[in-house]
Amino acid sequence: MLSFFVIIDIYGGDTLIVGVLVEISAKAVDKVFEYSVPCELEKDIKVGIRVSVPFGRMTLEGFVMEIKNSKSTDKELKEIIDVVDKDIVLNSELLELGKVMRDNTLSTLISCYQVMLPKALKAGNTGNIKYYTYYKLNNDYDKSLKFNDTQKKIIDMVSKGSVIRKDLVDISLSSLNTLIKKGVLLEEKSEHYRVNYSNEEFVKPVLTNEQQAVVDSVIGETNTYLLYGVTGSGKTEVYMEIIEHYLNMGKTSIVLVPEISLTPQMIDRFEKRFGKKIAAIHSGLSDGEKYDEYRRIARGEASIVIGARSAVFAPLKNIGIIIIDEEHSDSYKQSDPSPRYHARDIAILRSKYHKCSVLLGSATPSLESMARGEKGVYKLLSLPHRVNGKELPKVSIVDMNKEIKRSKGHFSSILINSINDRLEKKEQIILLLNRRGYSSFVTCKNCGYTFKCPNCDITLTYHKSSNTLRCHYCGYGGKVVDTCPECKEKALNNLGVGTQKIEEELNKLFNCRVLRMDFDTTSKKGMHEKMIESFKNHEYDILLGTQMVAKGLDFSNVTLVGVINADTSLNIPDFRSSENTFSLLNQVAGRSGRSEKTGTVVIQTYNPEHYAISLCEKHDYISFYKQEMMIRRSLKYPPYYYICNIRVSGKDSNYILSEALKIKNSLERNFSSTIILGPSSSSLFKMNNTYRYNIILKYKKEDNLYNVLSKVLDHYKTNPKIKVDIDFNPSQMI
Ligand code: ADP
Ligand code: ZN
Repeated sequence: MLSFFVIIDIYGGDTLIVGVLVEISAKAVDKVFEYSVPCELEKDIKVGIRVSVPFGRMTLEGFVMEIKNSKSTDKELKEIIDVVDKDIVLNSELLELGKVMRDNTLSTLISCYQVMLPKALKAGNTGNIKYYTYYKLNNDYDKSLKFNDTQKKIIDMVSKGSVIRKDLVDISLSSLNTLIKKGVLLEEKSEHYRVNYSNEEFVKPVLTNEQQAVVDSVIGETNTYLLYGVTGSGKTEVYMEIIEHYLNMGKTSIVLVPEISLTPQMIDRFEKRFGKKIAAIHSGLSDGEKYDEYRRIARGEASIVIGARSAVFAPLKNIGIIIIDEEHSDSYKQSDPSPRYHARDIAILRSKYHKCSVLLGSATPSLESMARGEKGVYKLLSLPHRVNGKELPKVSIVDMNKEIKRSKGHFSSILINSINDRLEKKEQIILLLNRRGYSSFVTCKNCGYTFKCPNCDITLTYHKSSNTLRCHYCGYGGKVVDTCPECKEKALNNLGVGTQKIEEELNKLFNCRVLRMDFDTTSKKGMHEKMIESFKNHEYDILLGTQMVAKGLDFSNVTLVGVINADTSLNIPDFRSSENTFSLLNQVAGRSGRSEKTGTVVIQTYNPEHYAISLCEKHDYISFYKQEMMIRRSLKYPPYYYICNIRVSGKDSNYILSEALKIKNSLERNFSSTIILGPSSSSLFKMNNTYRYNIILKYKKEDNLYNVLSKVLDHYKTNPKIKVDIDFNPSQMI
């Protein structure tokens, strides 16, 4: 680099020219534009930095993609305006990765780079590190002091070992301040994110033989591994042991977890073991805090990054291992906006660059990954038992068809009795209300029957406007009838029940304290953590919630998990609905009996015979996998076929449909073996006055695929009336 600038100095007549990719994510603009560099900025110019440039009448920011020098007389180029950030924001690995992503997802290059960076960096906004204030008990406080009820409550909380984080509690600040003044509480500032304070020495558990064997395999050979380990089998301990191995070698690690399970409990476990080497990126951080964490990572101050999907782009150097926990989770696929990438694919790409291993872990691996494991594309490892001989919880499946007369509201007599039993024993309960896919389908209240597409075996979606049932894969349409074809009862409904209703029922049926956790009650920043903390402190008996309560939580006093309605997620119009249901039920069951006390699980269902439900009884993932694979094969779904969704949307539904048909026709002319379905109206057919149609491709191998699809995108890229989006391996069909 140095010699390069010397040459410029000597021959003064040359100008530095840079290729800049500007920040407009439109297909039509997605290319590198050339600018010249004014002398005073030359010394700061590097590939991968951010600059501001004139673009038409606007000033835009962009990334320097390349540097060349040329005779100033070559052409009249505009000059860059400024260097926004002297540090490199995209290193050479990430610059290359972006190009591969663009090619694999058919998105714009700029969108691929933007998704790698924290928001604050994009705005050029440099936030300061925020410190959290914690309060803990001063053990030597004057016991003769008198306290009011609020103060007593606070003292009680901290005496149990809790630490109060100022921004997470809604107890009065004046009480807190009084307690500090009286020397009862000690204030502590920390940059770190944690809920529990613990001054006990960290003791690393001795790994079981099964765990040690997994660790030895992974550190023994560079590969992509799939670890199938039942809930509570000690996967997280295995991850930490592997990370420590690489840490000792001076290497870094990435751990991806679904956002929902990125709880304080999880982060706390890693921080206890690795302290300040951890950078945790989670939704509880402000944009400024995310930026700070990102900077720590880029500067090499953190060696272990934990975060959700986008943490896969963490700018670590010298990576030793990339771990994806709960690898089956659909949160690893970005659906909207583009780039529609899967974190698993990015992890594998990065592992090639770093010559490191990838470890995918799950109690219910995705069918795609398990199939690759069986074929040997991934190396399969397993932890079939819970640690130290602990049993998996006993699962009872309750047939709600038979219970209907004995049940009260949404509660079967079995679930009612189990709840009463736990309340008496002062043990805690988690209740799952399965809300996925509610109210878009019609189901029979009497027998649980749902209407399915005769071609695709996909639940038909109810369209209120036309009072019809439609298949979103192939477009099949059916009339809504009012008697159930199965049991002949007039009991069809399409109404869902909410958590609030269940909460009311609980309060009527039991004398208990219910904590409701759903998207409404957790939308306020910090509420999620606060709820987890108060449930842990046994301020509540029952934690009632949506999917949020199913993952990652570890409460030793929870001995009963109840599922109010196992079926709803079975009815989502998606070929993965059985897989998602099995995995959700298995996950939530895994929350029960994680400590000394044995746990039980009660699953209420109208479809007790459905394999996605009946196989939960014995936690039998392998049988589920086999059965589901047979269905996938016969209906030509992944992992036997790839799926690609082409979404065509716009305000004029007639125009959109006719263009969608044209696209389909041209695809039919160009593809040889691909199955083309649709165009069919999407399950979110009309959104914000925009109509959406899907064309679904099923293919095994289609040489022309990317070529043809990018021509389709090119054809429409400047047409404002229509938007074409392509999603390879979509995680959901909307
Ligand atoms: P998973 O991630 O598979 O659900 P965890 O790693 O959370 O399992 O382990 C479940 C529980 O068992 C945790 O409380 C953990 O601390 C404990 N545990 C894991 N491995 C061991 C071990 N080798 N010895 C003792 N306890 C362990
Ligand atoms: Zn169909």
